Amino acid sequence: MTGLNVNAERIYLDHASTSPLDPIALEAMLPYLTGCHGNPNSLHREGREAFVALEDSRRSIAKNLGARMPSEVIFTSGGTESDNSALQGIVDHTAPYNGHAHVIVSTMEHHAVLNPAARLAKQGHEVTYLAPRRDGFIYPEDLSAAMRENTVLVSVMLANNEIGTMQPVAELTRIAHTGGALLHTDAVQALGKVPLDLEKLGVDAASFSAHKIGGPKGVGALYLRRKTPFYPWMLGGGQEAGRRSGTQNVAGAVGFAAALDARCADIEERRKELTSMRDRCIDAVLAACPSVSLAVDPRGSDLYLPNIIAFLVDGLEGETTLLDLDNVGIAASAGSACSSESLEPSHVLRSISIPDRLAYGSLRVSLGYTTTEKDINRFIEIIPSIIEKRS
Ligand code: PLP
Repeated sequence: MTGLNVNAERIYLDHASTSPLDPIALEAMLPYLTGCHGNPNSLHREGREAFVALEDSRRSIAKNLGARMPSEVIFTSGGTESDNSALQGIVDHTAPYNGHAHVIVSTMEHHAVLNPAARLAKQGHEVTYLAPRRDGFIYPEDLSAAMRENTVLVSVMLANNEIGTMQPVAELTRIAHTGGALLHTDAVQALGKVPLDLEKLGVDAASFSAHKIGGPKGVGALYLRRKTPFYPWMLGGGQEAGRRSGTQNVAGAVGFAAALDARCADIEERRKELTSMRDRCIDAVLAACPSVSLAVDPRGSDLYLPNIIAFLVDGLEGETTLLDLDNVGIAASAGSACSSESLEPSHVLRSISIPDRLAYGSLRVSLGYTTTEKDINRFIEIIPSIIEKRS
């Protein structure tokens, strides 16, 4: 251990990548990392204690998600596993009755959806990639036009991790259902930022991750609406009612539930605060830096997440801006952290027809539960010197 204090005088504006562990979650987890070590599937007292903690967490998460029943929530290792399981698990169960299946995914999905979709194509299924329009939204009529007789699954994310657009998922679900298909939504970024009511949304499956909201890394949930056809992706001892084998991460589930509870307690109020900080930041940066524009403009609309800004800096590489910011104590992201090892411009920005020249200069600023007005002030103060220095 290096004893590195990553928080020392730093300003963290990369919450879409991950959020720091909320002390509330840590405190809730500690008893399950130390004293209470039982396997929740064991019958003895230690096991029963762990079981109670796991099921209490499931109930609490289900309530905060607006699920009708706790059993609709399956614990997983995170958003990636939930996405993989949803796509493969639903198609595996459904396809034998449909012959080769047709699946629709949007082109702006996270790779945790795009890559499983590519695998389905390799397995002989047909995959249609549905593009958003230039404004970053998937239009219901475009989904209607893409539906086919053998479409079994549509996967469209609730909110995008790079540009923050929130899709009309309730309407898309109605279209999928009318065509006899199910709808999965990756709700990783929407969780804890905007109120969710899965029952009302009507989706058949949804993916969540704890570490984007102040929970621990390596735990998430897959919501599977009752009766959703599903062949488990993870096979083994039959835990999670046979839908996800493997001994559950009890402390992780407890931390996830505690973080979600904390985020949901003041979600409307915090949404307003984040929106106001986001818009103030955009106004100030655009006014001070003529070479900066936006991939999409979320100001004045509630169709965007309150915490994501996708700046485009003309003539500067996003990675360079990111490193310069890092040097002065500010953590942001050059597009999506998940694809930051790739030298290709972001597939999300390409999907909304941002020219590569501008996409190379993308700088994502994402706010979260720890963000303060002071953080935004500091960012606004520093960014012109970083951009103007080299442009
Ligand atoms: N889906 C979206 C939209 C994300 O932003 C991420 C994380 O970056 C994931 C899925 C993957 O989640 P996890 O890191 O929990 O595997």
